Amino acid sequence: MAEVKLQNVSKVYENNVVAVKDISFTVEDKEFVVLVGPSGCGKTTTLRMIAGLEEISKGELYIDGKLMNDVPAKDRDIAMVFQNYALYPHMTVFENMAFGLKIRKYPKNEIKKRVEEAAKILGIDHLLNRKPKQLSGGQRQRVAVGRAIVRKPKVFLFDEPLSNLDAKLRVQMRTEISKLHQKLEATMIYVTHDQTEAMTMGDRIVVMKDGIVQQIDTPLNLYNRPINKFVAGFIGSPAMNFIPGKIIRYNGLRFVSDKNQFSFLINENQNTFDNYIDKKIIVGIRPEDFIPASMMQNDNLEEINCEVDVVEPMGNESFVYFQIDEIQIVARISSSIIIKPGQKFSFSYNPAKIHLFDGESEKRIA
Ligand code: ATP
Repeated sequence: MAEVKLQNVSKVYENNVVAVKDISFTVEDKEFVVLVGPSGCGKTTTLRMIAGLEEISKGELYIDGKLMNDVPAKDRDIAMVFQNYALYPHMTVFENMAFGLKIRKYPKNEIKKRVEEAAKILGIDHLLNRKPKQLSGGQRQRVAVGRAIVRKPKVFLFDEPLSNLDAKLRVQMRTEISKLHQKLEATMIYVTHDQTEAMTMGDRIVVMKDGIVQQIDTPLNLYNRPINKFVAGFIGSPAMNFIPGKIIRYNGLRFVSDKNQFSFLINENQNTFDNYIDKKIIVGIRPEDFIPASMMQNDNLEEINCEVDVVEPMGNESFVYFQIDEIQIVARISSSIIIKPGQKFSFSYNPAKIHLFDGESEKRIA
């Protein structure tokens, strides 16, 4: 299998649209890396440059240490699975899966062996004689994946392969692709705009915005130590709450929100904040890090008193909406705690789980 390395890669389209700006990352051999970001952030362009379907404007692409910039797509030993499956409608499942091998002039018995093997892995061996229109969306997607597997490529590329499937099937296929990765021990690069897909599938995740890589890290590190406010807000659902304010000196260092409804003592190394006194700061708190004050064992923790706006019961937990400084905040709490809209309620929060961002650069502080 293979290592994929991008070094200062940029893409400028003909009309001067800069789709990807100076990105560098390495996908290790056998690694599953997910490129994630909002629509238009350049993830598909990046994948297409790796595949050889799009020219690289600047920078270098290496596969297994070999420079690939000028190697045609067909010679890169890469297979790509597309969002729209791209199956040939007039061919059977078998013919669709065999096509890539046939044009590469593989012997008939080898093609048959590989197609049957892949079909078995994907649970579509009973569908080999059907045409694509006689298949469900999930089955078509499996055929598209099967077509990639039979080639035994060095690298698999997936471009939003599950977006056309319904929610339940998407979750199921997610697991199947992860299992496939373990089984094939292949290098895989997967593009999605869905942060849940990224978090559940990736060994590492590359978060992109406006053609620029924001952070490359494991799912847990992205979640626990997002490098800036964008990553903090993009990863996690419901999204992290943000409250602007500043740090003042008052019996030590305190964060005070803009409209004074929320403040807390900063316990971290105080020197870290020397440059931030009286400057704009944004506090980030994940919905699950608000805790009903009645459940807190440590009486010293500060509380926020609020009036509940909306409660969304999710089964095992509820999303509780309220306001701090007139900003809508969401907390995730156990549904065993009964809360009603209009009720006065006190929340506390885990001080160790609070995130602080520079109000200007939006970068993480400390
Ligand atoms: P999505 O999730 O919507 O597919 P993406 O993150 O994959 O988005 P890209 O498709 O890579 O984003 O597009 C990145 C930027 O490049 C966008 O601004 C897009 O409009 C632009 N772009 C993409 N393809 C072309 C093209 N062929 N010519 C000009 N601009 C393009």
